[in-house]
Amino acid sequence: MLNKLYKILFGALVVVAALWLVAMNDGSPAMVTPGKKTQTENQTASLLRVYFLNVGQGDAIYIRTPDEQDILIDGGPDASVLAELGKVMPFWDRQIDVMVLTHPHSDHVAGLVEVLRRFEVKQIYYTGVLHTAPDYLAWLAEVKNKNVAMHIVQDFFELKLSDEIKLQFLYPTVSLVNEKMTELNNGSIVTRLVDGDTEFLFTGDAEVEVEEALLKKYCALEQPCALASDVLKVGHHGSTSSSSEEFLKAVDPRYAVISVGQDNSFGHPHLKTLKRLERLNVPILRTDERGAIDFATDGHGLNFK
Ligand SMILES: [Zn+2]
Repeated sequence: MLNKLYKILFGALVVVAALWLVAMNDGSPAMVTPGKKTQTENQTASLLRVYFLNVGQGDAIYIRTPDEQDILIDGGPDASVLAELGKVMPFWDRQIDVMVLTHPHSDHVAGLVEVLRRFEVKQIYYTGVLHTAPDYLAWLAEVKNKNVAMHIVQDFFELKLSDEIKLQFLYPTVSLVNEKMTELNNGSIVTRLVDGDTEFLFTGDAEVEVEEALLKKYCALEQPCALASDVLKVGHHGSTSSSSEEFLKAVDPRYAVISVGQDNSFGHPHLKTLKRLERLNVPILRTDERGAIDFATDGHGLNFK
């Protein structure tokens, strides 16, 4: 009798495992690289994935490396980041290896409070800029409560994620610790993710002033400019205060992503920014129109859905 029960239980376990394996094959985008054969679904585990999550009016970018490191840049304005992460992270993975807070405005920090409460976050990168809004104070309190290692971004450095993949911190290049900034957007951390010859540039809410500083530091001597990237997360939700023509030309992106909420009260993205991108023939991908945007690369080919 007991033997039979064990057999039934074992059978049920096999069925659950089989269903789970089917569920894991999540229809990842196939990769097409010139001169290479199309990658099949089961090869997608070796791809770097970059998701621009659909968190409404705000930013949240989730990166998963081929060896399963999880990086989260900003968390959007509320708990919606949790549902978005639930769609793209394996359910057993409750760790975030690297959390980056670009700047402490609510549409970037509020969702991170929820993430800290539900995930084990290993390390945090932020600027230490002074800000006293409740969402930021709640984030600082939760970081302290969970005793997460914190690193200040105040100069260029590279975080090596694997032999091929690195996250470059491009800005700020001075200490903003306890600085009271009149325009917090211009204290945004700017990062560039590099995998082989594929790059993503994440600009937070950096405005033209920061773009000029970046051009001066990274493009004056180096040719091609060290900002050049296949994918640009357009600064400040497509506001007209960001994305100068000179900056866009230097980055020379194949795709521009705008993270923005439907019918938001800020009028983002601005028509001027859209027109500027159109003039430069850069396809625009918007989270308010497409939902979450999922890029995959093997370091050479790049695809999205
Ligand atoms: Zn913002």
